Amino acid sequence: MQPETRGQWIVMKFGGTSVSSVACWDTICGQVRRHLDDGKQVLVVVSALSGVTNLLSRLADGVSASVRAAIGAELREKHEELIEALGLGSSVHFDRHWSSLLELLGQSGPKLDDAQRAQLLAHGELLSSSIGHAVLAANGLAADWQDARRMLQAVPATGDLLAARCSDEVDPGLARRLAGEGASHITQGFIAAAATGETCLLGRGGSDTSAAYFAARLGASALEIWTDVPGIFSADPRVVPEARLLRRLSYSEAQEL
Ligand code: ASP
Ligand code: MG
Repeated sequence: MQPETRGQWIVMKFGGTSVSSVACWDTICGQVRRHLDDGKQVLVVVSALSGVTNLLSRLADGVSASVRAAIGAELREKHEELIEALGLGSSVHFDRHWSSLLELLGQSGPKLDDAQRAQLLAHGELLSSSIGHAVLAANGLAADWQDARRMLQAVPATGDLLAARCSDEVDPGLARRLAGEGASHITQGFIAAAATGETCLLGRGGSDTSAAYFAARLGASALEIWTDVPGIFSADPRVVPEARLLRRLSYSEAQEL
Protein backbone atom coordinates (compact mmCIF):
# COMPACT_ATOMS: atom_id res chain seq x y z
CA MET A 1 0.00 0.00 0.00
CA GLN A 2 1.36 3.42 -0.92
CA PRO A 3 1.63 5.86 1.98
CA GLU A 4 -0.50 8.46 0.19
CA THR A 5 -3.42 6.06 -0.03
CA ARG A 6 -3.26 4.92 3.59
CA GLY A 7 -5.70 6.10 6.20
CA GLN A 8 -7.14 8.95 4.22
CA TRP A 9 -10.20 7.49 2.59
CA ILE A 10 -13.57 6.95 4.17
CA VAL A 11 -16.10 4.87 2.23
CA MET A 12 -19.74 5.40 3.25
CA LYS A 13 -22.50 3.20 1.86
CA PHE A 14 -26.17 4.15 2.03
CA GLY A 15 -28.85 1.55 1.27
CA GLY A 16 -32.13 2.08 -0.56
CA THR A 17 -34.10 3.18 2.49
CA SER A 18 -31.27 5.54 3.41
CA VAL A 19 -31.33 7.48 0.13
CA SER A 20 -35.08 7.78 -0.45
CA SER A 21 -36.04 10.89 1.53
CA VAL A 22 -34.97 14.47 2.18
CA ALA A 23 -34.06 13.55 5.78
CA CYS A 24 -31.75 10.80 4.48
CA TRP A 25 -29.89 13.26 2.29
CA ASP A 26 -29.57 15.72 5.17
CA THR A 27 -27.81 12.95 7.07
CA ILE A 28 -25.60 12.04 4.11
CA CYS A 29 -24.57 15.67 3.53
CA GLY A 30 -23.84 16.07 7.24
CA GLN A 31 -21.66 12.96 7.31
CA VAL A 32 -19.76 13.92 4.17
CA ARG A 33 -19.12 17.38 5.60
CA ARG A 34 -17.93 15.93 8.91
CA HIS A 35 -15.34 13.73 7.17
CA LEU A 36 -14.18 16.51 4.84
CA ASP A 37 -13.77 18.83 7.82
CA ASP A 38 -11.58 16.11 9.36
CA GLY A 39 -9.34 16.25 6.30
CA LYS A 40 -10.52 12.90 4.94
CA GLN A 41 -11.31 11.93 1.37
CA VAL A 42 -14.78 10.53 0.95
CA LEU A 43 -16.41 8.06 -1.38
CA VAL A 44 -20.19 7.77 -1.01
CA VAL A 45 -21.67 4.55 -2.40
CA VAL A 46 -25.42 4.39 -2.92
CA SER A 47 -28.08 1.78 -3.62
CA ALA A 48 -31.04 2.40 -5.86
CA LEU A 49 -34.05 4.13 -4.27
CA SER A 50 -36.25 1.75 -2.27
CA GLY A 51 -38.13 -0.70 -4.46
CA VAL A 52 -36.49 0.38 -7.72
CA THR A 53 -34.33 -2.71 -8.28
CA ASN A 54 -37.41 -4.90 -7.74
CA LEU A 55 -39.34 -2.94 -10.37
CA LEU A 56 -36.46 -3.15 -12.85
CA SER A 57 -36.14 -6.83 -12.14
CA ARG A 58 -39.81 -7.39 -12.97
CA LEU A 59 -39.28 -5.60 -16.27
CA ALA A 60 -36.30 -7.82 -16.99
CA ASP A 61 -38.41 -10.94 -16.36
CA GLY A 62 -40.56 -9.97 -19.32
CA VAL A 63 -43.91 -8.17 -18.98
CA SER A 64 -46.78 -7.08 -21.22
CA ALA A 65 -46.75 -3.59 -22.74
CA SER A 66 -49.33 -2.33 -20.25
CA VAL A 67 -47.41 -3.61 -17.22
CA ARG A 68 -44.25 -2.14 -18.70
CA ALA A 69 -45.94 1.26 -19.00
CA ALA A 70 -47.23 1.03 -15.42
CA ILE A 71 -43.79 0.14 -14.06
CA GLY A 72 -42.24 2.93 -16.12
CA ALA A 73 -44.69 5.38 -14.56
CA GLU A 74 -43.95 4.10 -11.06
CA LEU A 75 -40.22 4.48 -11.62
CA ARG A 76 -40.70 8.02 -12.86
CA GLU A 77 -42.88 8.90 -9.88
CA LYS A 78 -40.43 7.52 -7.30
CA HIS A 79 -37.55 9.54 -8.70
CA GLU A 80 -39.51 12.69 -9.50
CA GLU A 81 -41.07 12.81 -6.04
CA LEU A 82 -37.67 12.75 -4.40
CA ILE A 83 -36.16 15.27 -6.82
CA GLU A 84 -39.06 17.62 -6.15
CA ALA A 85 -38.94 17.15 -2.39
CA LEU A 86 -35.24 17.94 -2.51
CA GLY A 87 -35.96 21.07 -4.55
CA LEU A 88 -33.47 20.08 -7.25
CA GLY A 89 -33.43 21.44 -10.77
CA SER A 90 -32.48 19.39 -13.79
CA SER A 91 -29.25 17.42 -13.64
CA VAL A 92 -27.05 16.34 -16.53
CA HIS A 93 -26.24 12.96 -14.98
CA PHE A 94 -29.85 12.21 -14.09
CA ASP A 95 -31.19 13.22 -17.50
CA ARG A 96 -28.59 11.10 -19.26
CA HIS A 97 -29.43 7.97 -17.29
CA TRP A 98 -33.15 8.57 -17.38
CA SER A 99 -33.02 8.81 -21.21
CA SER A 100 -30.99 5.64 -21.41
CA LEU A 101 -33.50 3.89 -19.13
CA LEU A 102 -36.37 5.03 -21.38
CA GLU A 103 -34.52 3.65 -24.36
CA LEU A 104 -34.14 0.27 -22.65
CA LEU A 105 -37.81 0.36 -21.63
CA GLY A 106 -38.72 0.84 -25.26
CA GLN A 107 -36.81 -2.32 -26.12
CA SER A 108 -37.84 -4.52 -23.20
CA GLY A 109 -40.83 -6.82 -23.44
CA PRO A 110 -39.70 -10.41 -23.56
CA LYS A 111 -37.42 -11.80 -20.86
CA LEU A 112 -33.96 -10.24 -21.06
CA ASP A 113 -30.69 -12.13 -21.26
CA ASP A 114 -28.12 -11.65 -18.48
CA ALA A 115 -26.21 -8.83 -20.19
CA GLN A 116 -29.42 -6.90 -20.89
CA ARG A 117 -30.73 -7.54 -17.37
CA ALA A 118 -27.52 -6.25 -15.81
CA GLN A 119 -27.63 -3.14 -17.96
CA LEU A 120 -31.26 -2.45 -17.07
CA LEU A 121 -30.89 -3.09 -13.32
CA ALA A 122 -27.78 -0.87 -13.19
CA HIS A 123 -30.06 2.10 -13.83
CA GLY A 124 -31.40 2.07 -10.28
CA GLU A 125 -27.99 2.99 -8.89
CA LEU A 126 -27.06 5.19 -11.87
CA LEU A 127 -30.16 7.30 -11.16
CA SER A 128 -29.89 7.41 -7.36
CA SER A 129 -26.21 8.39 -7.53
CA SER A 130 -27.13 11.13 -10.03
CA ILE A 131 -29.70 12.52 -7.62
CA GLY A 132 -27.10 12.28 -4.86
CA HIS A 133 -24.58 14.15 -6.95
CA ALA A 134 -27.08 16.99 -7.42
CA VAL A 135 -28.00 17.09 -3.71
CA LEU A 136 -24.39 17.25 -2.62
CA ALA A 137 -23.73 20.05 -5.11
CA ALA A 138 -26.80 21.96 -3.90
CA ASN A 139 -25.39 21.72 -0.37
CA GLY A 140 -22.02 23.13 -1.33
CA LEU A 141 -20.36 19.70 -1.31
CA ALA A 142 -19.35 19.44 -4.95
CA ALA A 143 -18.66 15.73 -5.18
CA ASP A 144 -17.50 14.06 -8.38
CA TRP A 145 -19.90 11.60 -9.95
CA GLN A 146 -17.90 8.44 -10.52
CA ASP A 147 -18.97 5.54 -12.69
CA ALA A 148 -18.42 2.41 -10.58
CA ARG A 149 -17.68 0.48 -13.77
CA ARG A 150 -14.49 2.50 -14.17
CA MET A 151 -13.41 1.52 -10.67
CA LEU A 152 -14.50 -2.09 -10.20
CA GLN A 153 -13.65 -4.75 -12.74
CA ALA A 154 -15.00 -8.26 -12.39
CA VAL A 155 -12.57 -11.13 -12.07
CA PRO A 156 -12.81 -12.83 -15.49
CA ALA A 157 -12.91 -16.35 -14.04
CA THR A 158 -16.40 -15.90 -12.61
CA GLY A 159 -17.94 -14.78 -15.92
CA ASP A 160 -21.31 -14.37 -14.20
CA LEU A 161 -22.86 -11.05 -15.22
CA LEU A 162 -25.44 -11.13 -12.43
CA ALA A 163 -23.23 -12.19 -9.53
CA ALA A 164 -19.71 -11.09 -10.40
CA ARG A 165 -16.74 -10.99 -8.10
CA CYS A 166 -14.04 -8.33 -8.18
CA SER A 167 -10.50 -7.98 -6.93
CA ASP A 168 -10.11 -6.59 -3.43
CA GLU A 169 -6.45 -5.71 -3.89
CA VAL A 170 -5.33 -2.19 -3.08
CA ASP A 171 -5.18 -0.07 -6.22
CA PRO A 172 -2.98 2.99 -5.58
CA GLY A 173 -3.67 4.17 -9.14
CA LEU A 174 -7.39 4.41 -8.38
CA ALA A 175 -6.80 6.35 -5.17
CA ARG A 176 -4.47 8.71 -7.01
CA ARG A 177 -6.91 9.25 -9.86
CA LEU A 178 -9.80 10.05 -7.52
CA ALA A 179 -7.66 12.22 -5.26
CA GLY A 180 -6.63 14.19 -8.33
CA GLU A 181 -10.27 14.83 -9.17
CA GLY A 182 -11.45 16.03 -5.78
CA ALA A 183 -11.94 15.24 -2.11
CA SER A 184 -15.44 13.81 -2.30
CA HIS A 185 -17.03 11.42 -4.75
CA ILE A 186 -20.30 9.61 -5.20
CA THR A 187 -20.74 6.32 -7.00
CA GLN A 188 -23.02 3.33 -7.46
CA GLY A 189 -23.17 0.17 -5.42
CA PHE A 190 -24.19 -3.12 -7.05
CA ILE A 191 -22.51 -2.60 -10.45
CA ALA A 192 -19.12 -3.27 -11.98
CA ALA A 193 -17.57 -3.84 -15.40
CA ALA A 194 -17.18 -7.36 -16.74
CA ALA A 195 -13.94 -8.36 -18.44
CA THR A 196 -15.75 -7.80 -21.75
CA GLY A 197 -16.50 -4.21 -20.71
CA GLU A 198 -20.22 -4.98 -20.32
CA THR A 199 -22.07 -3.90 -17.19
CA CYS A 200 -22.31 -6.63 -14.57
CA LEU A 201 -23.94 -6.89 -11.15
CA LEU A 202 -22.64 -8.14 -7.82
CA GLY A 203 -25.84 -10.01 -6.94
CA ARG A 204 -28.97 -8.75 -5.17
CA GLY A 205 -28.12 -6.69 -2.12
CA GLY A 206 -24.66 -6.28 -3.66
CA SER A 207 -24.10 -2.65 -2.71
CA ASP A 208 -22.56 -3.63 0.62
CA THR A 209 -20.13 -5.82 -1.30
CA SER A 210 -19.35 -2.93 -3.64
CA ALA A 211 -18.60 -0.68 -0.71
CA ALA A 212 -16.28 -3.29 0.80
CA TYR A 213 -14.43 -3.61 -2.52
CA PHE A 214 -14.07 0.17 -2.81
CA ALA A 215 -12.76 0.40 0.75
CA ALA A 216 -10.25 -2.37 0.08
CA ARG A 217 -9.12 -0.96 -3.26
CA LEU A 218 -8.69 2.54 -1.86
CA GLY A 219 -6.98 1.28 1.28
CA ALA A 220 -9.66 3.19 3.20
CA SER A 221 -9.27 3.81 6.91
CA ALA A 222 -12.98 3.19 7.47
CA LEU A 223 -16.00 1.68 5.79
CA GLU A 224 -19.35 2.86 7.09
CA ILE A 225 -22.49 0.95 6.12
CA TRP A 226 -25.53 3.12 6.78
CA THR A 227 -28.90 1.44 6.80
CA ASP A 228 -32.31 2.46 7.96
CA VAL A 229 -33.55 -0.23 10.29
CA PRO A 230 -34.82 0.21 13.83
CA GLY A 231 -32.48 -2.47 15.23
CA ILE A 232 -32.05 -6.23 15.35
CA PHE A 233 -35.13 -8.47 15.20
CA SER A 234 -35.61 -11.94 16.67
CA ALA A 235 -36.02 -13.24 13.08
CA ASP A 236 -36.18 -11.87 9.54
CA PRO A 237 -39.36 -9.72 9.70
CA ARG A 238 -39.94 -10.22 5.96
CA VAL A 239 -40.28 -13.96 6.56
CA VAL A 240 -41.57 -14.15 10.13
CA PRO A 241 -44.32 -11.53 10.66
CA GLU A 242 -44.27 -12.01 14.44
CA ALA A 243 -40.54 -11.19 14.67
CA ARG A 244 -39.84 -8.85 17.60
CA LEU A 245 -37.43 -5.94 17.86
CA LEU A 246 -34.88 -6.98 20.49
CA ARG A 247 -34.24 -4.48 23.27
CA ARG A 248 -31.17 -6.24 24.65
CA LEU A 249 -28.79 -8.52 22.85
CA SER A 250 -25.55 -10.11 23.95
CA TYR A 251 -22.65 -10.33 21.56
CA SER A 252 -22.99 -14.12 21.27
CA GLU A 253 -26.76 -13.91 20.62
CA ALA A 254 -26.13 -11.35 17.92
CA GLN A 255 -23.60 -13.67 16.34
CA GLU A 256 -26.08 -16.55 16.43
CA LEU A 257 -28.76 -14.46 14.69
N1 ASP B 1 -30.19 -2.18 -5.42
C1 ASP B 1 -29.64 -3.52 -5.32
C2 ASP B 1 -30.66 -4.49 -4.77
O1 ASP B 1 -31.75 -4.06 -4.39
C3 ASP B 1 -28.38 -3.57 -4.54
C4 ASP B 1 -28.47 -3.12 -3.10
O2 ASP B 1 -29.36 -2.37 -2.75
O3 ASP B 1 -27.62 -3.51 -2.30
O4 ASP B 1 -30.41 -5.66 -4.74
MG1 MG C 1 -29.12 -3.85 1.26
